[in-house]
Amino acid sequence: MASIPLKTDPGFLQKTITGLTDQIDLFETFQSLSLKIISQFNLEDIFSTFTGIVREITHYKSAVIFMYGPSQDSYHPAWQSPEDCSNGRLLPLDDKIVDWVMSQGRWTVITDLQDNKANCIKSILPLKSPKHALGFMVILTEHTPSAYNRKIGSILEFVASQTAISIENQDLYSKINQSNAYMTDMLESISNGIIATDLTGCVTKINKNATAILGIKGKKIIGRHFDTLVSGALKKKLHEIFNAALDRNLLPETMISYSPFKEVNIFLGITASLLTDKTRETNGVIFSFRDMSASKEIERLTRLDEMKSEFVSNVSHELRTPLSIIKSYTEALITQVSPDDSDTRENFLTVIDSETDRLSGIVSNLLDLSRIESGKFALNYRMVDMVQLVNSVVSVFKPKLGNIRIFTDFEDTLPLINADPDKIKEVVINLVSNAAGFSPMGGTIHIGLETRKEWLLCSVADTGIGIPEDAIPHIFDKFYRVDNSDTYEIEGTGLGLSIVRHILQMHKGKVEASSVLGKGSVFSFMLPL
Ligand code: ADP
Repeated sequence: MASIPLKTDPGFLQKTITGLTDQIDLFETFQSLSLKIISQFNLEDIFSTFTGIVREITHYKSAVIFMYGPSQDSYHPAWQSPEDCSNGRLLPLDDKIVDWVMSQGRWTVITDLQDNKANCIKSILPLKSPKHALGFMVILTEHTPSAYNRKIGSILEFVASQTAISIENQDLYSKINQSNAYMTDMLESISNGIIATDLTGCVTKINKNATAILGIKGKKIIGRHFDTLVSGALKKKLHEIFNAALDRNLLPETMISYSPFKEVNIFLGITASLLTDKTRETNGVIFSFRDMSASKEIERLTRLDEMKSEFVSNVSHELRTPLSIIKSYTEALITQVSPDDSDTRENFLTVIDSETDRLSGIVSNLLDLSRIESGKFALNYRMVDMVQLVNSVVSVFKPKLGNIRIFTDFEDTLPLINADPDKIKEVVINLVSNAAGFSPMGGTIHIGLETRKEWLLCSVADTGIGIPEDAIPHIFDKFYRVDNSDTYEIEGTGLGLSIVRHILQMHKGKVEASSVLGKGSVFSFMLPL
Protein backbone atom coordinates (compact mmCIF):
# COMPACT_ATOMS: atom_id res chain seq x y z
CA MET A 1 0.00 0.00 0.00
CA ALA A 2 1.36 3.49 -0.88
CA SER A 3 2.41 5.69 2.00
CA ILE A 4 0.69 9.02 2.55
CA PRO A 5 3.29 11.70 1.57
CA LEU A 6 1.63 14.31 3.80
CA LYS A 7 2.82 12.43 6.87
CA THR A 8 6.32 11.54 5.61
CA ASP A 9 7.16 14.80 3.74
CA PRO A 10 5.95 17.93 5.55
CA GLY A 11 7.04 20.21 2.57
CA PHE A 12 4.80 18.25 0.16
CA LEU A 13 1.59 20.16 0.92
CA GLN A 14 3.32 23.47 0.37
CA LYS A 15 4.75 22.24 -2.97
CA THR A 16 1.36 20.91 -4.07
CA ILE A 17 -0.34 24.19 -3.19
CA THR A 18 2.31 26.18 -5.06
CA GLY A 19 1.94 23.83 -8.06
CA LEU A 20 -1.81 24.21 -8.04
CA THR A 21 -1.59 27.98 -7.72
CA ASP A 22 0.77 28.01 -10.72
CA GLN A 23 -1.74 25.92 -12.67
CA ILE A 24 -4.60 28.24 -11.75
CA ASP A 25 -2.49 31.27 -12.70
CA LEU A 26 -1.68 29.64 -16.04
CA PHE A 27 -5.31 28.76 -16.62
CA GLU A 28 -6.38 32.33 -15.85
CA THR A 29 -3.69 33.65 -18.17
CA PHE A 30 -4.98 31.38 -20.96
CA GLN A 31 -8.53 32.48 -20.31
CA SER A 32 -7.80 36.19 -20.39
CA LEU A 33 -5.60 35.88 -23.50
CA SER A 34 -8.25 33.83 -25.28
CA LEU A 35 -10.91 36.40 -24.41
CA LYS A 36 -8.74 39.23 -25.73
CA ILE A 37 -8.25 37.51 -29.08
CA ILE A 38 -11.70 36.08 -29.74
CA SER A 39 -13.36 39.40 -28.98
CA GLN A 40 -11.76 40.88 -32.14
CA PHE A 41 -13.79 40.82 -35.34
CA ASN A 42 -11.51 42.13 -38.04
CA LEU A 43 -8.22 40.76 -39.25
CA GLU A 44 -6.23 43.89 -38.44
CA ASP A 45 -7.39 43.92 -34.80
CA ILE A 46 -6.80 40.19 -34.47
CA PHE A 47 -3.19 40.57 -35.72
CA SER A 48 -2.53 43.58 -33.54
CA THR A 49 -3.86 41.82 -30.39
CA PHE A 50 -1.98 38.63 -31.20
CA THR A 51 1.34 40.31 -32.00
CA GLY A 52 0.95 42.57 -28.92
CA ILE A 53 0.69 39.48 -26.69
CA VAL A 54 3.61 37.74 -28.42
CA ARG A 55 5.69 40.89 -28.01
CA GLU A 56 4.88 41.08 -24.29
CA ILE A 57 5.98 37.48 -23.84
CA THR A 58 9.06 37.35 -26.09
CA HIS A 59 10.15 41.01 -26.33
CA TYR A 60 10.88 40.34 -30.00
CA LYS A 61 13.00 42.74 -32.07
CA SER A 62 11.16 42.03 -35.32
CA ALA A 63 8.43 39.70 -36.46
CA VAL A 64 6.47 38.86 -39.57
CA ILE A 65 3.32 36.84 -40.11
CA PHE A 66 2.94 34.73 -43.25
CA MET A 67 -0.45 33.36 -44.31
CA TYR A 68 -1.07 30.50 -46.71
CA GLY A 69 -2.96 31.01 -49.92
CA PRO A 70 -6.19 29.09 -50.54
CA SER A 71 -4.37 26.02 -51.92
CA GLN A 72 -1.84 26.11 -49.03
CA ASP A 73 1.12 25.62 -51.39
CA SER A 74 2.46 29.15 -51.03
CA TYR A 75 2.52 31.79 -48.33
CA HIS A 76 2.58 35.56 -48.37
CA PRO A 77 3.43 38.20 -45.75
CA ALA A 78 0.26 39.42 -44.04
CA TRP A 79 1.69 41.49 -41.20
CA GLN A 80 5.10 42.90 -40.29
CA SER A 81 6.33 44.59 -37.11
CA PRO A 82 6.69 48.30 -37.76
CA GLU A 83 10.33 48.67 -36.64
CA ASP A 84 12.50 46.19 -38.54
CA CYS A 85 15.61 45.56 -36.42
CA SER A 86 16.32 42.23 -38.05
CA ASN A 87 19.04 43.41 -40.45
CA GLY A 88 17.59 41.00 -42.98
CA ARG A 89 17.85 38.02 -40.62
CA LEU A 90 14.09 37.22 -40.58
CA LEU A 91 14.27 36.02 -44.16
CA PRO A 92 14.94 34.01 -46.26
CA LEU A 93 13.11 31.01 -44.94
CA ASP A 94 13.87 27.45 -45.76
CA ASP A 95 10.55 25.93 -46.95
CA LYS A 96 11.53 22.48 -45.69
CA ILE A 97 12.10 23.84 -42.19
CA VAL A 98 8.79 25.71 -42.34
CA ASP A 99 7.00 22.54 -43.45
CA TRP A 100 8.63 20.57 -40.66
CA VAL A 101 7.68 23.15 -37.99
CA MET A 102 4.12 23.26 -39.34
CA SER A 103 3.89 19.47 -39.20
CA GLN A 104 5.08 19.56 -35.56
CA GLY A 105 2.64 22.35 -34.79
CA ARG A 106 4.96 23.74 -32.07
CA TRP A 107 6.82 26.93 -31.44
CA THR A 108 10.32 26.11 -32.71
CA VAL A 109 13.65 27.94 -32.51
CA ILE A 110 15.38 27.57 -35.90
CA THR A 111 18.47 29.76 -35.60
CA ASP A 112 21.51 27.82 -36.81
CA LEU A 113 24.63 27.91 -34.74
CA GLN A 114 26.53 30.28 -37.00
CA ASP A 115 23.90 32.87 -36.54
CA ASN A 116 24.42 32.74 -32.80
CA LYS A 117 27.16 35.31 -33.29
CA ALA A 118 24.48 37.74 -34.33
CA ASN A 119 23.20 37.62 -30.77
CA CYS A 120 19.63 36.82 -31.66
CA ILE A 121 17.43 33.81 -32.24
CA LYS A 122 14.87 33.16 -34.93
CA SER A 123 11.79 31.09 -34.13
CA ILE A 124 8.64 30.01 -35.95
CA LEU A 125 5.22 29.96 -34.29
CA PRO A 126 2.59 28.04 -36.32
CA LEU A 127 -0.89 29.57 -36.68
CA LYS A 128 -3.03 26.43 -36.66
CA SER A 129 -6.66 25.95 -35.83
CA PRO A 130 -7.93 22.45 -34.99
CA LYS A 131 -8.90 22.11 -38.65
CA HIS A 132 -6.41 24.06 -40.75
CA ALA A 133 -2.89 25.43 -40.88
CA LEU A 134 -3.42 29.10 -41.71
CA GLY A 135 0.10 30.48 -41.54
CA PHE A 136 2.98 31.16 -39.15
CA MET A 137 4.83 33.92 -37.40
CA VAL A 138 8.59 34.33 -37.69
CA ILE A 139 10.01 35.96 -34.56
CA LEU A 140 13.48 37.45 -34.03
CA THR A 141 14.42 37.83 -30.36
CA GLU A 142 17.49 38.54 -28.16
CA HIS A 143 19.73 35.52 -27.87
CA THR A 144 18.74 34.42 -24.37
CA PRO A 145 17.37 30.94 -24.95
CA SER A 146 17.46 30.15 -21.23
CA ALA A 147 14.70 32.75 -20.75
CA TYR A 148 12.35 30.53 -22.72
CA ASN A 149 10.87 27.45 -21.22
CA ARG A 150 8.12 25.02 -22.14
CA LYS A 151 5.56 27.07 -20.18
CA ILE A 152 6.20 30.08 -22.38
CA GLY A 153 6.07 27.82 -25.44
CA SER A 154 2.66 26.52 -24.35
CA ILE A 155 1.31 30.03 -23.88
CA LEU A 156 2.58 31.12 -27.30
CA GLU A 157 1.12 28.03 -28.99
CA PHE A 158 -2.19 28.56 -27.20
CA VAL A 159 -2.33 32.23 -28.24
CA ALA A 160 -1.46 31.25 -31.84
CA SER A 161 -4.18 28.60 -31.98
CA GLN A 162 -6.78 31.03 -30.56
CA THR A 163 -5.66 33.54 -33.19
CA ALA A 164 -6.05 30.95 -35.95
CA ILE A 165 -9.58 30.15 -34.72
CA SER A 166 -10.41 33.87 -34.63
CA ILE A 167 -9.09 34.32 -38.18
CA GLU A 168 -11.26 31.43 -39.35
CA ASN A 169 -14.29 32.91 -37.57
CA GLN A 170 -13.58 36.32 -39.02
CA ASP A 171 -13.42 34.74 -42.47
CA LEU A 172 -16.75 33.09 -41.78
CA TYR A 173 -18.28 36.40 -40.59
CA SER A 174 -17.11 38.21 -43.68
CA LYS A 175 -18.51 35.45 -45.91
CA ILE A 176 -21.85 35.62 -44.07
CA ASN A 177 -21.80 39.42 -44.32
CA GLN A 178 -20.99 39.25 -48.02
CA SER A 179 -23.77 36.77 -48.67
CA ASN A 180 -26.19 38.90 -46.60
CA ALA A 181 -25.18 42.00 -48.54
CA TYR A 182 -25.62 40.08 -51.81
CA MET A 183 -29.10 38.92 -50.77
CA THR A 184 -30.04 42.46 -49.75
CA ASP A 185 -28.73 43.86 -53.06
CA MET A 186 -30.73 41.24 -54.92
CA LEU A 187 -33.89 42.02 -52.95
CA GLU A 188 -33.48 45.75 -53.50
CA SER A 189 -32.78 45.32 -57.22
CA ILE A 190 -36.03 43.47 -57.88
CA SER A 191 -38.48 45.90 -59.47
CA ASN A 192 -41.41 44.26 -57.67
CA GLY A 193 -42.26 45.03 -54.07
CA ILE A 194 -41.40 42.02 -51.90
CA ILE A 195 -42.62 41.28 -48.38
CA ALA A 196 -41.62 38.06 -46.61
CA THR A 197 -43.52 37.01 -43.50
CA ASP A 198 -43.32 34.19 -40.99
CA LEU A 199 -46.15 31.71 -40.59
CA THR A 200 -48.10 34.11 -38.36
CA GLY A 201 -47.91 36.89 -40.97
CA CYS A 202 -45.27 39.01 -39.21
CA VAL A 203 -42.86 40.71 -41.61
CA THR A 204 -39.36 39.22 -41.69
CA LYS A 205 -38.03 41.07 -44.77
CA ILE A 206 -39.27 43.90 -46.95
CA ASN A 207 -37.64 45.72 -49.83
CA LYS A 208 -37.75 49.45 -50.59
CA ASN A 209 -39.98 48.93 -53.62
CA ALA A 210 -42.65 47.36 -51.40
CA THR A 211 -42.61 50.38 -49.06
CA ALA A 212 -42.72 52.72 -52.07
CA ILE A 213 -45.50 50.89 -53.98
CA LEU A 214 -47.67 50.40 -50.89
CA GLY A 215 -46.84 53.81 -49.41
CA ILE A 216 -45.69 52.26 -46.11
CA LYS A 217 -44.31 54.81 -43.68
CA GLY A 218 -42.30 54.33 -40.51
CA LYS A 219 -39.05 52.56 -39.85
CA LYS A 220 -40.11 49.70 -37.59
CA ILE A 221 -41.67 47.36 -40.15
CA ILE A 222 -39.87 44.11 -39.37
CA GLY A 223 -41.86 42.13 -36.83
CA ARG A 224 -45.16 43.90 -37.56
CA HIS A 225 -48.08 41.92 -38.94
CA PHE A 226 -48.58 42.60 -42.66
CA ASP A 227 -52.14 43.77 -42.07
CA THR A 228 -50.91 46.73 -40.00
CA LEU A 229 -49.05 48.04 -43.06
CA VAL A 230 -52.03 48.44 -45.41
CA SER A 231 -55.71 49.24 -45.09
CA GLY A 232 -59.15 48.73 -46.62
CA ALA A 233 -59.74 46.27 -49.42
CA LEU A 234 -56.04 45.52 -49.84
CA LYS A 235 -55.78 44.36 -46.22
CA LYS A 236 -58.68 41.96 -46.77
CA LYS A 237 -57.22 40.75 -50.06
CA LEU A 238 -53.79 40.10 -48.50
CA HIS A 239 -55.43 37.95 -45.82
CA GLU A 240 -57.19 35.92 -48.51
CA ILE A 241 -53.97 35.51 -50.50
CA PHE A 242 -51.94 34.66 -47.36
CA ASN A 243 -54.41 31.94 -46.31
CA ALA A 244 -54.64 30.55 -49.83
CA ALA A 245 -50.83 30.39 -50.04
CA LEU A 246 -50.65 28.50 -46.72
CA ASP A 247 -53.36 26.11 -47.96
CA ARG A 248 -51.05 25.58 -50.96
CA ASN A 249 -53.75 26.83 -53.29
CA LEU A 250 -52.24 28.28 -56.40
CA LEU A 251 -53.76 31.68 -56.97
CA PRO A 252 -53.45 33.57 -60.24
CA GLU A 253 -52.11 37.11 -59.97
CA THR A 254 -54.76 39.15 -58.17
CA MET A 255 -55.46 42.65 -59.44
CA ILE A 256 -56.63 45.33 -57.06
CA SER A 257 -56.90 49.08 -57.21
CA TYR A 258 -55.21 50.68 -54.18
CA SER A 259 -54.76 54.19 -52.96
CA PRO A 260 -51.49 54.43 -51.00
CA PHE A 261 -51.83 58.22 -50.66
CA LYS A 262 -54.63 60.73 -51.07
CA GLU A 263 -55.53 61.25 -54.73
CA VAL A 264 -53.11 58.53 -55.87
CA ASN A 265 -54.63 55.40 -57.24
CA ILE A 266 -52.59 52.48 -58.52
CA PHE A 267 -53.35 49.07 -59.93
CA LEU A 268 -51.57 46.36 -58.02
CA GLY A 269 -50.83 42.87 -59.23
CA ILE A 270 -50.28 40.61 -56.20
CA THR A 271 -48.93 37.06 -56.04
CA ALA A 272 -47.81 34.98 -53.08
CA SER A 273 -45.70 31.87 -52.67
CA LEU A 274 -44.56 29.74 -49.77
CA LEU A 275 -41.17 30.37 -48.19
CA THR A 276 -39.59 26.94 -47.77
CA ASP A 277 -36.16 25.76 -46.66
CA LYS A 278 -33.88 23.04 -48.03
CA THR A 279 -35.97 20.31 -46.38
CA ARG A 280 -39.17 21.76 -47.98
CA GLU A 281 -40.30 22.86 -44.52
CA THR A 282 -42.57 25.93 -44.80
CA ASN A 283 -41.32 28.95 -42.85
CA GLY A 284 -43.55 31.70 -44.17
CA VAL A 285 -45.05 33.44 -47.16
CA ILE A 286 -43.57 35.81 -49.75
CA PHE A 287 -45.82 38.47 -51.26
CA SER A 288 -44.85 40.07 -54.55
CA PHE A 289 -46.43 43.38 -55.59
CA ARG A 290 -46.37 44.78 -59.13
CA ASP A 291 -47.46 48.32 -59.94
CA MET A 292 -49.60 47.74 -63.02
CA SER A 293 -50.70 51.37 -63.46
CA ALA A 294 -48.41 51.97 -66.40
CA SER A 295 -49.45 48.77 -68.19
CA LYS A 296 -53.11 49.54 -67.41
CA GLU A 297 -52.70 52.96 -68.99
CA ILE A 298 -51.01 51.40 -72.04
CA GLU A 299 -53.85 48.87 -72.20
CA ARG A 300 -56.38 51.74 -72.06
CA LEU A 301 -54.60 53.72 -74.79
CA THR A 302 -54.28 50.62 -76.98
CA ARG A 303 -57.99 49.93 -76.49
CA LEU A 304 -58.80 53.56 -77.34
CA ASP A 305 -56.68 53.26 -80.44
CA GLU A 306 -58.46 50.08 -81.46
CA MET A 307 -61.81 51.73 -80.78
CA LYS A 308 -60.85 54.71 -82.95
CA SER A 309 -59.92 52.43 -85.84
CA GLU A 310 -63.19 50.55 -85.39
CA PHE A 311 -64.93 53.93 -85.28
CA VAL A 312 -63.43 55.08 -88.59
CA SER A 313 -64.53 51.88 -90.27
CA ASN A 314 -67.98 52.05 -88.61
CA VAL A 315 -68.48 55.68 -89.63
CA SER A 316 -67.40 54.98 -93.20
CA HIS A 317 -69.83 52.08 -93.31
CA GLU A 318 -72.57 54.14 -91.67
CA LEU A 319 -72.13 56.94 -94.22
CA ARG A 320 -71.77 54.67 -97.22
CA THR A 321 -74.96 52.68 -96.62
CA PRO A 322 -77.44 55.60 -96.74
CA LEU A 323 -75.39 57.30 -99.44
CA SER A 324 -75.50 54.28 -101.72
CA ILE A 325 -79.23 53.81 -101.07
CA ILE A 326 -79.85 57.49 -101.87
CA LYS A 327 -77.70 57.20 -104.99
CA SER A 328 -79.38 54.05 -106.35
CA TYR A 329 -82.95 55.34 -105.65
CA THR A 330 -82.13 58.70 -107.25
CA GLU A 331 -80.64 56.97 -110.32
CA ALA A 332 -83.71 54.77 -110.60
CA LEU A 333 -85.95 57.82 -110.28
CA ILE A 334 -84.10 59.54 -113.13
CA THR A 335 -83.65 56.60 -115.49
CA GLN A 336 -86.25 53.93 -114.71
CA VAL A 337 -89.37 55.34 -113.04
CA SER A 338 -91.77 56.94 -115.42
CA PRO A 339 -92.83 60.51 -114.55
CA ASP A 340 -96.42 59.28 -114.51
CA ASP A 341 -95.82 56.53 -111.95
CA SER A 342 -96.45 58.78 -108.98
CA ASP A 343 -96.80 55.91 -106.44
CA THR A 344 -93.34 54.51 -107.14
CA ARG A 345 -91.87 58.03 -107.23
CA GLU A 346 -93.40 58.78 -103.81
CA ASN A 347 -92.15 55.48 -102.41
CA PHE A 348 -88.63 56.12 -103.67
CA LEU A 349 -88.64 59.72 -102.44
CA THR A 350 -89.72 58.53 -98.96
CA VAL A 351 -86.77 56.13 -98.86
CA ILE A 352 -84.42 58.91 -99.99
CA ASP A 353 -85.89 61.22 -97.33
CA SER A 354 -85.43 58.75 -94.50
CA GLU A 355 -81.90 57.84 -95.59
CA THR A 356 -81.07 61.55 -95.74
CA ASP A 357 -82.36 61.86 -92.15
CA ARG A 358 -80.12 58.97 -91.18
CA LEU A 359 -77.14 60.66 -92.85
CA SER A 360 -77.79 63.96 -91.21
CA GLY A 361 -78.19 62.16 -87.84
CA ILE A 362 -74.72 60.62 -88.18
CA VAL A 363 -73.18 63.90 -89.32
CA SER A 364 -74.81 65.82 -86.47
CA ASN A 365 -73.54 63.24 -83.96
CA LEU A 366 -70.03 63.69 -85.36
CA LEU A 367 -70.35 67.47 -85.22
CA ASP A 368 -71.70 67.32 -81.67
CA LEU A 369 -68.79 65.21 -80.57
CA SER A 370 -66.25 67.53 -82.10
CA ARG A 371 -68.01 70.56 -80.52
CA ILE A 372 -68.08 68.82 -77.13
CA GLU A 373 -64.39 68.01 -77.39
CA SER A 374 -63.45 71.54 -78.43
CA GLY A 375 -65.66 73.03 -75.69
CA LYS A 376 -67.93 74.80 -78.21
CA PHE A 377 -71.06 72.89 -77.32
CA ALA A 378 -73.32 75.63 -75.88
CA LEU A 379 -76.81 75.22 -74.42
CA ASN A 380 -79.85 77.37 -75.17
CA TYR A 381 -81.96 77.19 -72.05
CA ARG A 382 -85.73 77.54 -72.25
CA MET A 383 -88.73 76.28 -70.28
CA VAL A 384 -89.46 72.92 -71.85
CA ASP A 385 -92.59 70.78 -71.75
CA MET A 386 -91.17 67.25 -71.74
CA VAL A 387 -94.51 65.64 -72.62
CA GLN A 388 -94.66 67.64 -75.81
CA LEU A 389 -91.00 66.93 -76.59
CA VAL A 390 -91.31 63.16 -76.12
CA ASN A 391 -94.56 63.06 -78.12
CA SER A 392 -92.93 64.85 -81.03
CA VAL A 393 -90.09 62.25 -81.09
CA VAL A 394 -92.61 59.38 -80.89
CA SER A 395 -94.58 60.77 -83.81
CA VAL A 396 -91.43 60.88 -85.96
CA PHE A 397 -90.46 57.31 -85.04
CA LYS A 398 -93.88 55.64 -85.08
CA PRO A 399 -94.23 55.31 -88.87
CA LYS A 400 -90.71 53.85 -89.17
CA LEU A 401 -90.85 51.19 -86.44
CA GLY A 402 -92.29 48.27 -88.41
CA ASN A 403 -93.07 45.40 -86.00
CA ILE A 404 -92.03 47.40 -82.93
CA ARG A 405 -94.81 48.97 -80.90
CA ILE A 406 -94.20 52.14 -78.93
CA PHE A 407 -96.11 53.23 -75.78
CA THR A 408 -95.91 56.24 -73.54
CA ASP A 409 -96.81 56.56 -69.89
CA PHE A 410 -96.69 60.09 -68.48
CA GLU A 411 -97.40 61.27 -64.95
CA ASP A 412 -100.24 63.82 -64.83
CA THR A 413 -99.35 67.47 -64.62
CA LEU A 414 -95.60 67.36 -65.02
CA PRO A 415 -93.79 70.64 -64.36
CA LEU A 416 -91.82 72.39 -67.11
CA ILE A 417 -88.08 72.11 -66.90
CA ASN A 418 -85.34 74.57 -67.72
CA ALA A 419 -83.29 72.95 -70.50
CA ASP A 420 -82.08 73.18 -74.09
CA PRO A 421 -85.02 71.56 -75.98
CA ASP A 422 -82.98 70.67 -79.09
CA LYS A 423 -80.32 68.91 -77.07
CA ILE A 424 -82.82 67.06 -74.86
CA LYS A 425 -84.66 66.03 -78.02
CA GLU A 426 -81.38 64.67 -79.32
CA VAL A 427 -81.06 62.63 -76.10
CA VAL A 428 -84.54 61.14 -76.48
CA ILE A 429 -84.00 60.47 -80.21
CA ASN A 430 -80.73 58.66 -79.45
CA LEU A 431 -82.33 56.49 -76.76
CA VAL A 432 -85.43 55.64 -78.83
CA SER A 433 -83.36 55.00 -81.92
CA ASN A 434 -81.13 52.59 -79.90
CA ALA A 435 -84.20 50.90 -78.37
CA ALA A 436 -85.57 50.33 -81.87
CA GLY A 437 -82.24 49.45 -83.47
CA PHE A 438 -81.35 46.87 -80.81
CA SER A 439 -84.75 45.14 -81.10
CA PRO A 440 -84.17 43.40 -84.48
CA MET A 441 -86.85 40.80 -83.74
CA GLY A 442 -89.52 43.41 -82.97
CA GLY A 443 -91.02 44.09 -79.55
CA THR A 444 -92.19 47.06 -77.55
CA ILE A 445 -90.74 50.35 -76.43
CA HIS A 446 -92.12 52.11 -73.36
CA ILE A 447 -91.33 55.73 -72.68
CA GLY A 448 -92.18 57.05 -69.25
CA LEU A 449 -92.09 60.48 -67.65
CA GLU A 450 -92.42 61.09 -63.92
CA THR A 451 -91.13 63.30 -61.14
CA ARG A 452 -88.91 61.85 -58.50
CA LYS A 453 -88.10 64.20 -55.63
CA GLU A 454 -86.34 67.17 -57.24
CA TRP A 455 -85.82 65.37 -60.53
CA LEU A 456 -87.77 64.74 -63.69
CA LEU A 457 -87.19 61.18 -64.80
CA CYS A 458 -87.53 59.96 -68.37
CA SER A 459 -87.15 56.23 -69.05
CA VAL A 460 -86.92 54.39 -72.34
CA ALA A 461 -87.44 50.64 -71.95
CA ASP A 462 -87.21 48.08 -74.72
CA THR A 463 -87.61 44.33 -75.10
CA GLY A 464 -84.58 44.00 -77.38
CA ILE A 465 -81.34 42.03 -77.28
CA GLY A 466 -80.12 43.49 -73.97
CA ILE A 467 -76.57 44.30 -72.92
CA PRO A 468 -74.05 41.94 -71.26
CA GLU A 469 -73.50 42.91 -67.60
CA ASP A 470 -69.76 43.55 -68.00
CA ALA A 471 -70.39 45.92 -70.94
CA ILE A 472 -72.83 48.20 -69.09
CA PRO A 473 -70.12 50.32 -67.38
CA HIS A 474 -68.59 51.07 -70.81
CA ILE A 475 -71.56 51.83 -73.06
CA PHE A 476 -71.39 55.58 -72.34
CA ASP A 477 -67.72 55.67 -73.41
CA LYS A 478 -66.87 57.27 -76.72
CA PHE A 479 -66.68 54.77 -79.64
CA TYR A 480 -67.70 51.84 -77.42
CA ARG A 481 -69.94 49.23 -79.06
CA VAL A 482 -70.86 45.78 -77.77
CA ASP A 483 -69.61 43.15 -80.19
CA ASN A 484 -72.81 41.40 -81.25
CA SER A 485 -71.41 40.31 -84.59
CA ASP A 486 -71.92 36.59 -83.86
CA THR A 487 -75.69 37.13 -83.39
CA TYR A 488 -76.81 40.44 -84.87
CA GLU A 489 -75.12 42.80 -87.28
CA ILE A 490 -76.49 46.12 -85.97
CA GLU A 491 -74.83 49.20 -87.38
CA GLY A 492 -73.70 52.16 -85.33
CA THR A 493 -70.80 54.47 -84.50
CA GLY A 494 -70.57 54.17 -80.72
CA LEU A 495 -71.08 57.91 -80.34
CA GLY A 496 -74.77 58.28 -79.39
CA LEU A 497 -74.63 57.40 -75.69
CA SER A 498 -71.42 59.31 -75.14
CA ILE A 499 -73.15 62.43 -76.52
CA VAL A 500 -76.24 61.67 -74.41
CA ARG A 501 -74.13 61.58 -71.26
CA HIS A 502 -72.36 64.83 -72.18
CA ILE A 503 -75.64 66.64 -72.82
CA LEU A 504 -77.09 65.45 -69.52
CA GLN A 505 -73.95 66.32 -67.58
CA MET A 506 -74.13 69.84 -69.04
CA HIS A 507 -77.70 70.05 -67.72
CA LYS A 508 -76.51 68.82 -64.30
CA GLY A 509 -78.54 65.72 -64.93
CA LYS A 510 -77.59 62.05 -65.09
CA VAL A 511 -78.24 58.91 -67.08
CA GLU A 512 -78.08 55.24 -66.21
CA ALA A 513 -78.76 51.90 -67.84
CA SER A 514 -79.89 48.52 -66.65
CA SER A 515 -80.34 45.49 -68.80
CA VAL A 516 -80.94 41.77 -68.89
CA LEU A 517 -79.20 40.05 -71.78
CA GLY A 518 -81.77 38.65 -74.21
CA LYS A 519 -84.65 40.36 -72.41
CA GLY A 520 -84.23 44.08 -72.91
CA SER A 521 -82.81 47.31 -71.54
CA VAL A 522 -83.95 50.38 -69.65
CA PHE A 523 -82.24 53.74 -70.10
CA SER A 524 -83.29 56.44 -67.62
CA PHE A 525 -82.16 60.01 -67.51
CA MET A 526 -82.92 62.63 -64.90
CA LEU A 527 -83.01 66.39 -65.19
CA PRO A 528 -83.17 68.74 -62.22
CA LEU A 529 -86.56 70.38 -61.75
P1 ADP B 1 -74.28 53.01 -81.45
O1 ADP B 1 -75.71 52.80 -81.15
O2 ADP B 1 -74.03 53.94 -82.56
O3 ADP B 1 -73.51 51.76 -81.57
P2 ADP B 1 -74.27 54.16 -78.83
O4 ADP B 1 -73.24 54.99 -78.12
O5 ADP B 1 -75.60 54.73 -78.96
O6 ADP B 1 -73.63 53.74 -80.19
O7 ADP B 1 -74.41 52.81 -78.04
C1 ADP B 1 -73.26 52.13 -77.63
C2 ADP B 1 -73.53 50.65 -77.51
O8 ADP B 1 -74.42 50.39 -76.42
C3 ADP B 1 -74.24 50.07 -78.70
O9 ADP B 1 -73.35 49.73 -79.74
C4 ADP B 1 -74.89 48.84 -78.10
O10 ADP B 1 -73.98 47.80 -78.03
C5 ADP B 1 -75.24 49.28 -76.70
N1 ADP B 1 -76.65 49.74 -76.62
C6 ADP B 1 -77.10 50.99 -76.53
N2 ADP B 1 -78.43 51.00 -76.39
C7 ADP B 1 -78.84 49.72 -76.41
C8 ADP B 1 -80.11 49.08 -76.28
N3 ADP B 1 -81.26 49.77 -76.14
N4 ADP B 1 -80.14 47.74 -76.31
C9 ADP B 1 -79.02 47.02 -76.45
N5 ADP B 1 -77.79 47.57 -76.56
C10 ADP B 1 -77.70 48.91 -76.53
